[in-house]
Amino acid sequence: MAGAPDEFGLIAKYFAPLAAGFPGALGLTDDAAFLPPDAGHDTVVTVDAIVAGVHFLPDDPPGLVARKLVRVNLSDLAAKGAVPFAVLLSAAFPHGTGDDWLRAFADGLAEDLKEYGAALIGGDTVSTPGPLTLSLTALGKVEAGRGLKRSGACVGDVVWVSGTIGDGALGLLTATGKLAPDAHLLDRYRLPQPRVGLGPRLIGMASAAMDVSDGLVQDLGHMMRASGVKGDLTAWTVPLSQSAEAALARDHSLLATVLTGGDDYELLFTAPLEAGGAVSALSAEVGVALTPIGRVVAGQGVAIRDARGRALTLKHGGWRHFTGEAG
Ligand code: ADP
Ligand code: MG
Repeated sequence: MAGAPDEFGLIAKYFAPLAAGFPGALGLTDDAAFLPPDAGHDTVVTVDAIVAGVHFLPDDPPGLVARKLVRVNLSDLAAKGAVPFAVLLSAAFPHGTGDDWLRAFADGLAEDLKEYGAALIGGDTVSTPGPLTLSLTALGKVEAGRGLKRSGACVGDVVWVSGTIGDGALGLLTATGKLAPDAHLLDRYRLPQPRVGLGPRLIGMASAAMDVSDGLVQDLGHMMRASGVKGDLTAWTVPLSQSAEAALARDHSLLATVLTGGDDYELLFTAPLEAGGAVSALSAEVGVALTPIGRVVAGQGVAIRDARGRALTLKHGGWRHFTGEAG
């Protein structure tokens, strides 16, 4: 809170404890932090901002807001195969943000930083007439030159995805009262599970990788473009939770939400066909479902197919066959 009398008190009280264990952070009392060199590793850096009313609901519990902020960033690090070690927080708090809110926010932040082994090594604190805006920069490590990229998918590779798809997007619908309440979906929306254990293990196995945050179809499109190939996605093989299955059974048009809705924070990756056994073994080892959902073919863009191999296209808010039949 540049200039405000309580800026330093606020940092010392809520944020400095989260710098413990990282000497280069200097207890958040200096101008900047020092990163010790780490021979043989690349430092992977990512940043994401979230805004009240846009990325979370203004009355969401502050601890959950903090944890989601951490997790969406760690998902990006996981997608590159990196292991997180530090974060920086830039916070614009609305005037009059209370002590209770800050305490709960800092507690949530502390909980997740502890869980994922990262220290808070710096940031900025300002006060704003606008909505609460939080930006987190996350740093991770990966063996030099071995980090995963979106480019690298080859024709013939299998497309895989972790966990289940669509829960986050359906969870937002339940949070806003547009879908029947469902604890699993709501939890998946509010508290993503970044695949930090899985990501580093994909090094040497995956030809390309990214995290799914903007919707499976769009994100697969991004990966295919970066790789100069086309994705053939088999819609019926996309892994769904029981809650998502139940929602789809009640309203099949929700398939569009599932495939394009976003907020999944799962890992999407490609691997050669012959790596299938190794991918399945890894799934069992790390305890995260890994499901083949399509193939990489020559061309560009993404084709989506139904169980009979017919192409689906998005129309009037639902998936339809190109022929115009009901999906
Ligand atoms: P400067 O005036 O150089 O921008 P500040 O006075 O804003 O620095 O910050 C002082 C120290 O507190 C710095 O180490 C900074 O990184 C840290 N800091 C400020 N706000 C935060 C925050 N929200 N989270 C973590 N560290 C913070
Ligand atoms: Mg300074």
